[in-house]
Amino acid sequence: MNVDKLMIDLEKKHPGEPEYLQAVREVLESIEEIYNQNPQFESAAIIERLIEPDRILTFKIPWIDDQGQAHVNIGYRIQFNNSIGPYKGGLRFHPSVNLSILKFLGFEQIFKNSLTTLPMGGAKGGSDFNPKGKSNAEIMRFCQSYMLELWKIIGADVDIPAGDIGVGGKEIGYMYGMYKKLSGEHTGVMTGKGRSWGGSLIRPEATGFGNVFFAREMLKTRGESFMGKIVSVSGFGNVAWGAITKATDFGARVVTISGPDGYVYDPDGISGEKIDYLLELRASNQDIVKPYSYEFPDSQFHEGKKSWEVKCDIALPCATQNELDREDAEMLVQNGCICVSEGANMPSTPEAIEVFIENKILYGPGKAANAGGVSTSGLEQTQNAMKISWTSEEVEEKLHQIMQSIHGSCVKYGTEPDGFVNYMKGANIAGFMKVANAMLDQGVI
Ligand code: NDP
Repeated sequence: MNVDKLMIDLEKKHPGEPEYLQAVREVLESIEEIYNQNPQFESAAIIERLIEPDRILTFKIPWIDDQGQAHVNIGYRIQFNNSIGPYKGGLRFHPSVNLSILKFLGFEQIFKNSLTTLPMGGAKGGSDFNPKGKSNAEIMRFCQSYMLELWKIIGADVDIPAGDIGVGGKEIGYMYGMYKKLSGEHTGVMTGKGRSWGGSLIRPEATGFGNVFFAREMLKTRGESFMGKIVSVSGFGNVAWGAITKATDFGARVVTISGPDGYVYDPDGISGEKIDYLLELRASNQDIVKPYSYEFPDSQFHEGKKSWEVKCDIALPCATQNELDREDAEMLVQNGCICVSEGANMPSTPEAIEVFIENKILYGPGKAANAGGVSTSGLEQTQNAMKISWTSEEVEEKLHQIMQSIHGSCVKYGTEPDGFVNYMKGANIAGFMKVANAMLDQGVI
């Protein structure tokens, strides 16, 4: 494999898709050495077959707002690779959604799902619909219209969508309801379902919990823990909420949350009733970061700024892709940050990652550190298939074990001669090897 040549060819075929190209380059650079040591990969064109999605469905989604006005959004589902199990990956509803973003997310999902130890292939989907400020009735009509197309290509053993940015329990409920009506089936075709109709306990908080479990494993390798540490978190969505809750349980003080308009710094820590207040605002589709600073006057809102300027021991980026650049990374390192564990997908730019690795801090890439969400989705599928429900303790214990296993795989493949663990390299190689070997076994298809 020649990474530069592959990337030039890929860019020619897919111009104007920077996020997708960024995600592919990161993986190719990590696996280049091991790939070239295994000539059977080259002769089966494993990498050329892996970087192209199996198929992409795009469709229009017409819907009517509360004033009777019709709108049209674009819907997508990208089924990337199903070598180790049915397609699996979330749906994102956000105005920034485009093919490049969904292809990067779908590509990452292949390796993440492989790391979880569960039989799941990679996929992603969504729409450029913005749920912000919409009424519940508008969101319901949109979700139903989206499912009118999506249901044709999904199924409990085929492709199992879940949530992501802008898609939580409410949206999953509306989409699942429409799927059920169209197919006449009540199966585990989506994950993140409501508790009383097939959902798993802990699923909403699983990505954040898993991220903190992963960070705890990384910290242990240096004799450190969350106890007494200052933690900076970005975003305040599903992932950030779970991460804040678990980090606080482990004795840390979380001092920031953020939104696209800025961040809040609360030196007393964000926990307990403050989290309840944030969750109430979120449930009503309102902005949450600025109102927090009015409600809790000891906190400060920093408009247009990113939370990475705050001094912290541990950083948990939980908002969106490329939200942490070289300058932010340098600031974190200068301020004494020892660990960055990604709750979001690809939140650090390649230049930021270089800073973390050059400075040999603990850096957990999203595809490993945030795999707790899809892992718990996998556990939800198992419960659906077996028609049983595990307790919170059972699910959390399984999630914990999976995160420990992912950490172990990263250490196995990412430990360098001087003992430093390059978790990015470890995650990419471990995720790749399993999928590549499955593709070899199954022939050129
Ligand atoms: P949510 O929609 O629940 O939350 C996203 C949060 O990030 C919101 O608080 C949002 O603010 C904020 N945000 C969005 N853009 C920016 C920005 N540019 N700067 C700062 N904050 C921003 O999404 P999730 O929590 O589900 O997802 C967050 C990340 O985690 C994504 O990268 C997602 O792909 C990843 N992920 C999610 C999983 C899951 O299980 N949900 C699983 C694995 C990864 P606002 O609401 O004001 O726009």
